Amino acid sequence: MVASDAIGSEAQFDAVLVGAGIMSSTLAFFLHELDPEMRILIIERLGAPALESSSAINNSGTGHAANCEFNYTPSNSDGSLNISKAVAINSAFERSLELWASMAELGKLSPESFLHCLPHISFVWGESNIAFLRQRYRNLSLKNAFQSMEWSEEVEEIKEWIPLVMNGRDPGQKVAATRVSRGTDVDFGALTLAYLKELQLSGAVELRLSTEVVDINRPNGKSWRLSLVGNRSEYYVETPFVFLGAGGGALSLLQRSGIPEGKSYGGFPVSGQWLVCNDQSLAAMHNAKVYGKSAIGAPPMSVPHLDTRWIKGKRSLLFGPFAGFNTKFLKNGSSFDFFRTIKLSNALPLIQAGFKNTDLINYLLGQLQLDHSDRINALKEFFPQANSDDWTLSIAGQRVQIIKMTKDGGTLKLGTEVVASSDGSLAALLGASPGASTAVSIMLEVLQSCWSEKMSTELWQQRLKKLLPSFGKELVSDETLLGKLRHRSNSLLGLR
Ligand SMILES: Cc1cc2nc3c(=O)[nH]c(=O)nc-3n(C[C@H](O)[C@H](O)[C@H](O)COP(=O)(O)OP(=O)(O)OC[C@H]3O[C@@H](n4cnc5c(N)ncnc54)[C@H](O)[C@@H]3O)c2cc1C
Repeated sequence: MVASDAIGSEAQFDAVLVGAGIMSSTLAFFLHELDPEMRILIIERLGAPALESSSAINNSGTGHAANCEFNYTPSNSDGSLNISKAVAINSAFERSLELWASMAELGKLSPESFLHCLPHISFVWGESNIAFLRQRYRNLSLKNAFQSMEWSEEVEEIKEWIPLVMNGRDPGQKVAATRVSRGTDVDFGALTLAYLKELQLSGAVELRLSTEVVDINRPNGKSWRLSLVGNRSEYYVETPFVFLGAGGGALSLLQRSGIPEGKSYGGFPVSGQWLVCNDQSLAAMHNAKVYGKSAIGAPPMSVPHLDTRWIKGKRSLLFGPFAGFNTKFLKNGSSFDFFRTIKLSNALPLIQAGFKNTDLINYLLGQLQLDHSDRINALKEFFPQANSDDWTLSIAGQRVQIIKMTKDGGTLKLGTEVVASSDGSLAALLGASPGASTAVSIMLEVLQSCWSEKMSTELWQQRLKKLLPSFGKELVSDETLLGKLRHRSNSLLGLR
C-alpha cells in the first residue's frame, strides 16, 4: 500500500493520544481543560473505547488506596514493614477522587454511573499471617490516611463484616481482619466512556475507532508522524505531541518511536481469569472487597480477593484473579506480541529478569494447570460454602509487567512507569499496578514531564487548581487538608 506524503491541516493535531482507555481519556480531559483550543485526536484500534484493561470485567475495579492490598506493604529484610508505597498510593487515589468530585460538581460526571462505596477488608488465617496483618495495621493506622482502619480477631465481629467468608469456617481456625469502610469499587470502563462522552460533546476531541497506529517516527526531527491503518489505506497524521496510552500495545510503539529513553525496556505478559457469580441473592450477602495474602511468587494482581462488583450497574461477585501466561500483550492482541518486542537492546535484561524470577515463573506454570475444581477449592478458602455451579470462568485483561535494565541488571518491575523523551514530545505509559486508580496522578506526571513550560504558567496553574483544589499541596503530612479534601469528595461523590 502506498501512502500519500502530503499532510493537510486536517491531519495535523496538537496532541495525538494512542489508545482509548482510562489513561488517554484522563489525559485528554486535562489537556482540554487546560487549553480548550487544543486539537486532540484519540486513536483506537478496536471498534469501541475501553475494551481492553480498562473494561470493568478485565480488571478488579478496586479503587486502589492501599487499604487492603498486602503487596503495597512489603517486608524489609529486617522484618519491618515498608509502608511508603501504601501511603503514596493512598494519596494518589485521593487525587483521583478529587478530580472526579470536581467533575461531578461541574455536572460533567455522574458518580453513581461508575463509583460505589464499599468496605476494603484484609482477611487472613494462621499465626504468621495474623502477625503480618497486625504489624500492617499498627504501622498504617499511625498515619492520617489510615486512621479509620479497624482491626478484629473476633469471629462474631468479622462474621458481621463478611458473613459469606465466615459461615461454615472451621471454628478452631484463628482468623483476623482489618476494615476500611471508605473503600470503593470503580467501573473504569464506564468512567472512560464518561470522560470521552464529555470531551466529544464539547467538540474538543476527535475519537477515531477501528484505526490502528502501525508506525511512528519523526522524519523532519520536529513533528511526530503516525501511520494509521483503518478501513481505508494506510495514511498519516502529524503532531508535536504523542501519548502512547496503548496499554499492552505501548511498548512496541515506544520501540518504534526510537527514542533512546525507551531502548532497554521489555515486557512480560501475565494473563488473568476470574470466577464470576451472578446469583443476585448471594451477591446481596457480600458487601466488601476481601483481599487475602498472595502465594509465593504471585504477581500483585494475583492476590486472591472476593469482591462485590458493579459492572454496567449490575451487582455480582468476582473471585480471583487466577494468573496465567500467554504471549499476547493485549487481550485482543496476537500471540506474536511478546516475540516482536524482543530486540538486541532488551534481550539481556529479559534473560536476566527471567533467571531472577523463577518463583514467578513456577507460580504461573502452576496456575496454568488449574482446572475448575482447583479454582473452586481456592475460592472455598475465602467462601467455605461456595457452590461450584454458581460460578463461571471469565477471562480478565492482559497485564504487561515492565522489565528494565537497572544497576542490578535486568529487573522485573511491578508498578507503572511513564517513559518520556527528553524534549517532552512523546510519553508512553508502561506497566500495571496500581494502574487505573492512580490515572490522575500519572497523567499529572505526564503533563509535568512533557508540558513543563505551560504547567508553570499562571493560567494553567489556575485551571488545575479549579479541578484539583489541593493541587501543589502535600496531602500525606497535612491532616487538616486531607480531612477537608475527603469531606469534599465524600459529599460530591456520595461516598458514605
Ligand atoms: C487482571 C487485572 C486487574 C486489574 N485490577 C485493577 C484494579 O483493581 N484497580 C486498578 O486501578 N487497576 C487495575 N488494573 C490495571 C488497569 O486495568 C490498567 O492500569 C488500566 O486499565 C490501563 O489503562 P490504559 O488506558 O493504559 O490501557 P487499556 O485500557 O488497555 O487501553 C489501551 C487501549 O489502546 C488500544 N491500542 C493498543 N495498541 C494500539 C494501537 N497500536 N493503535 C491504536 N490503539 C491501540 C487498545 O485497544 C486499548 O483500547 C488491572 C488490570 C488487570 C489486567
